[in-house]
Amino acid sequence: MSLKLAAKPKVKMTIVRDEEKYDVIIVGGGPAGLSAAIYALRSGLKTILIEKMVIGGTASTAHQIENYPGIKTVSGLELGQKMENQAKDLGLEVIWGEVSSIKRGFEAVVGQKTLQARTVIIAAGTQTAKLGVPGEDKLRGRGVSYCATCDGPFYQGKNVFVVGGGNSAIEEALFLTKFAAKVSIVHRRDKLRADVILADRANKNPRLYFFWHSTLDEIIGQDKVTEVVLTDLVSNKKLRYPADGVFIYVGSKPNSEIAKGLVALDDKGFILTDDKMATLTPGLFAAGDIRVKTLRQVVTAAADGAIAAAAAREFIASA
Ligand code: NAP
Repeated sequence: MSLKLAAKPKVKMTIVRDEEKYDVIIVGGGPAGLSAAIYALRSGLKTILIEKMVIGGTASTAHQIENYPGIKTVSGLELGQKMENQAKDLGLEVIWGEVSSIKRGFEAVVGQKTLQARTVIIAAGTQTAKLGVPGEDKLRGRGVSYCATCDGPFYQGKNVFVVGGGNSAIEEALFLTKFAAKVSIVHRRDKLRADVILADRANKNPRLYFFWHSTLDEIIGQDKVTEVVLTDLVSNKKLRYPADGVFIYVGSKPNSEIAKGLVALDDKGFILTDDKMATLTPGLFAAGDIRVKTLRQVVTAAADGAIAAAAAREFIASA
């Protein structure tokens, strides 16, 4: 009997020649990433953008944007598409996938691919935070939603609850009144965090009701949402209310996991940058909602992207 030696595993070496390297890899295709792409391409930088879900980012789920200067009103989807078209007309290369890691130098791993670049701009944005109450996970997609723009039309004539008092909660609650018979906002304080213009609109809308200083503690239902449990924080009373849907808008979490070890993060995981969007690692920039900032808006995300691209160009020129 002859022994057959196992074939030696082939080691695949990828040698990236300098001219194959990108000048800039942009992670995330929201307003920050697309704006960075437009500025980088116009500066002649070899640019690639990696997006895992939808071009346009979180803003693309906003049914209406009314505060982007120069455009009185536009849907988030349309604004995102316009930015995408503008970048693509300049020759933007896009690949779809999730970046699993970024290494110094730089390398970005996306599925089986490893891309190399002189600089990286992380514009991966945020994801909606969960409320963390019983029934939320079980009934997600069966009455529990994080996107009124996507799911609102299913609630024609129904009774829905919205949790949160920020811009997202109020904008989306107003949108839901186009469909639902009754929209109840549950907010833990007695003052909204949302912009005054939105709060005024909400106060005047006859289909909107408020549960002030209240929390939504449980979502009940077998195959779909049928009831919710609210606690009045003043009286400490718990009450059950019939409900067909629950929309949750209690803030967001940054998608900064891939940058860990290369950047400084605040206690909530947002990336610290200087005013050129530079992080702790030279050549690595962060832009948009993912970074520590005072105002998270499409207009500030776009501005961050422009600044990050200009800083990346400066970094390459001085390297
Ligand atoms: P946000 O501004 O952080 O508001 C989150 C809301 O959820 C707050 O009212 C907060 O209450 C409440 N909340 C947080 N945790 C909670 C919990 N565990 N239980 C109950 N309530 C809870 O988040 P956002 O509305 O998603 O907005 C995110 C960012 O995007 C903001 O910077 C916002 O301005 C921006 N944005 C802007 C627009 C626009 O300009 N048109 C639209 C959408 C979003 P407290 O107020 O008591 O903290």
